[in-house]
Amino acid sequence: PSSLHPTAANIDQLATHFPLCMSHLHTTLRTNAHLKHYGRLQYTLFLKGLGLSLDECVLFWRRSFRLMTDDKFTKEYKYNIRHAYGDVGGDANRRGRGYSPYSCQKLITEPLPGAGQSHGCPYRTFNVENLVSLLNAGGISDKEVVRGVREDVGKMRYHVACNRVFEHVHRKEIKDVKDKGTWGAAELDTLLHPNTYFKRSFMLKH
Ligand code: SF4
Repeated sequence: PSSLHPTAANIDQLATHFPLCMSHLHTTLRTNAHLKHYGRLQYTLFLKGLGLSLDECVLFWRRSFRLMTDDKFTKEYKYNIRHAYGDVGGDANRRGRGYSPYSCQKLITEPLPGAGQSHGCPYRTFNVENLVSLLNAGGISDKEVVRGVREDVGKMRYHVACNRVFEHVHRKEIKDVKDKGTWGAAELDTLLHPNTYFKRSFMLKH
């Protein structure tokens, strides 16, 4: 399998492996050339968890805010990225380390996003019709899967819906590693973290 070298230039390719929470942020960023504070923080920490270096992360945001001047970017945005990586600020405890990428548990229980905000877990933050449209837009329209997702979110089992979608999208690869015996139950247990979702998706497809 080819190894992962995330850079500012290949995030668009890697985004095919993102869970819905992060692909939604990525698409919103590409559409608006901007993301609000909490979305930026959630996405920055996820990218950090991918192994994107601080320099590449700064470059990624600089290029993504394509309508912004360098001056504004440096003054208003760069510090927060460095802060998330532990490059500046924070208490001694976080220095050099920064903040950990958010788990599903955190994303599913934090306050709901307000108007114009895109952070959080879409299985929870979207109303069910908009969620289904978002899934359809991402190529997921299998009736059984969509029915299952509706049921899961109705029971507030958001991460179950997300795992259902993962298993559907990767069904061929999962069957393959199971048949070959290269992956067991431990490698395929319930996903509880966006970075685990990414990593598993990437490994299955490479
Ligand atoms: Fe993201 Fe977790 Fe929600 Fe899936 S369940 S969309 S990985 S927060």
